[in-house]
Amino acid sequence: MLFILPRLCRQHLRSYVQSHIRQLTTGQPNVCIVGAGPAGFYTAQQILKGNPNAVVDIYEKLPVPFGLVRYGVAPDHPEVKNVINTFTQTASKDRCTFIGNVTIGKDISIADLQKAYSAVVLSYGADNDRLLGVPGENLKNVISARSFVGWYNGLPQDIDLQVNLDVEKAVIIGHGNVALDVARILLMPIDLLKKTDISQHSLDALSKSRIKEVIVIGRRGPLQVAFTIKELREMIRLPDCKPVLSQADFIGVDKLIQDLPRPRRRLTELMYKTCMEPTDKDVKLWKTAQKSWSLSFCMSPLEIFGDKDVTGLKLGINKLQGEDLVKQSAILTDQTVDMSCGLVLRSIGYKSIVIDPDIPFDTKSGTIPNKDSRVEGKPGMYCTGWVSTGPVGVILTTMNQAFETGKTVVKDINDGILDLTKPGKSDIFNILNSKGVQTVSFKDWENIDQFEVKQGEDVGKPREKMVDISQMVSVAKKS
Ligand SMILES: Cc1cc2nc3c(=O)[nH]c(=O)nc-3n(C[C@H](O)[C@H](O)[C@H](O)COP(=O)(O)OP(=O)(O)OC[C@H]3O[C@@H](n4cnc5c(N)ncnc54)[C@H](O)[C@@H]3O)c2cc1C
Repeated sequence: MLFILPRLCRQHLRSYVQSHIRQLTTGQPNVCIVGAGPAGFYTAQQILKGNPNAVVDIYEKLPVPFGLVRYGVAPDHPEVKNVINTFTQTASKDRCTFIGNVTIGKDISIADLQKAYSAVVLSYGADNDRLLGVPGENLKNVISARSFVGWYNGLPQDIDLQVNLDVEKAVIIGHGNVALDVARILLMPIDLLKKTDISQHSLDALSKSRIKEVIVIGRRGPLQVAFTIKELREMIRLPDCKPVLSQADFIGVDKLIQDLPRPRRRLTELMYKTCMEPTDKDVKLWKTAQKSWSLSFCMSPLEIFGDKDVTGLKLGINKLQGEDLVKQSAILTDQTVDMSCGLVLRSIGYKSIVIDPDIPFDTKSGTIPNKDSRVEGKPGMYCTGWVSTGPVGVILTTMNQAFETGKTVVKDINDGILDLTKPGKSDIFNILNSKGVQTVSFKDWENIDQFEVKQGEDVGKPREKMVDISQMVSVAKKS
């Protein structure tokens, strides 16, 4: 029968059968994943699908899963969080175990994981942020957008962030989607925010906010912004809020639009029309607006002023250089401008950290050096998601990359490259028990989930997130 199959199919079938015989005789592929964000869950999904014998354990430092889907994605973007349903399906599979409240690099070392598992996949994201490196950066009310996002999303480490909203003008440095998320949250009518899963402590603070003006500053021009059209449109449509774009920034841009690649063309068109050709309806709407936001281009912060609290910035004016319009780079000129403000939010990118000295790390790029997800010089170690690429792209980008990582791990299992005699989680649980670490299972997380949804129902929100880790663990353990 086999001979009537095409040659390629026969080869595939043979290697599939061989790999299964090998796994039956040598043992089971035990794979662990470090970090339960999108990269971790999508990699797990692919490995479970690609190898019917593989067992996947996902370690997460928090008692709750989903990474930036829970703690990054803006509270007014609930539709983005629907990916949680797919992650829940993965976690509910017999061969998948979520092990929360375990910090790899502290409770368990990478060496421990390597001893216990055939493959170790690192998907622990980017938990730090880039600094501007200018004088005055540590003044009060100069805050990283990452911490501000964590604060409004209830990330336990950020709930005590000292942010003073009793000021009128905020400056956000950076022209990415996170910058626009932060601007939107600062300017959004409180009645709209109240219906989201924004954390109560930040809702209380935002309801007393005096911020009326938000300036979003980027070092390059309108053709190089990193935010996307959805986020820009939401800013333009913000109730009671007027966009202020300078016509000088858009002179001649209309002539360039048609040559731009499609997503960039639509984005630039929207900025251009908002600035140069707003509709009568828009103009009427913006006339009565109490608040405003603006985009400032070709500026780099040189210094942040203030005594204890920030009072303003010195910005250097840049000129653009380079043939390719979209990729032009900013060159600092000797011109400067001073700008007053009472709050500065730095939104120039997230950055990964070294969680264990046994992980190779490129401190310059803030990523783990790898070739097709295989960590350089470390057989059996893989990386994926933001820790491997840097903080770029959206969940879809992370998903595509994680699927490739999953396929690579499956290929290495099938090719007999990995040691399939490793014992898996039993050894790790022995260590965790000896250290008294209380782990949180996916079932436990579902207790937290139900509790939060119930707390939210009582105040008309989709959920009220718990912000205290010990409270999370205690609710998790109540069956
Ligand atoms: C503010 C913000 C808003 C965003 N909004 C959107 C959006 O609207 N739409 C969209 O498509 N994309 C959005 N993104 C992008 C999206 O969140 C990322 O593409 C995606 O989360 C990256 O996935 P990841 O798994 O690599 O990292 P993460 O989501 O950060 O997951 C990493 C996980 O590892 C855990 N971890 C860290 N250290 C350890 C350790 N030592 N031990 C164990 N676990 C550890 C972390 O707790 C976390 O759960 C947004 C990103 C940000 C920052």
